[in-house]
Amino acid sequence: MNTSCYSCGMPLAGEEGQKARGNYCQYCSDEQGNLLPKEQVKQGLMQWLQGWAPEGSKADFESRAKHYMMAMPAWAEE
Ligand SMILES: [Zn+2]
Repeated sequence: MNTSCYSCGMPLAGEEGQKARGNYCQYCSDEQGNLLPKEQVKQGLMQWLQGWAPEGSKADFESRAKHYMMAMPAWAEE
């Protein structure tokens, strides 16, 4: 079984893993387990990054989120 979300890299273990559907965590998939649109995942990641380090502009977080997503199997081909 896959151990981390293919879209955002969040570990799919314990409680989070039980909520996960297939290869994606609850934040990256809809109720049918389909991957959410890229833009939506990116917005979520930007908020997550901002939660860690609130300093920075929106453009900073956007470029960091894009960079982060390039390392994820779900988005790597783009
Ligand atoms: Zn995810």
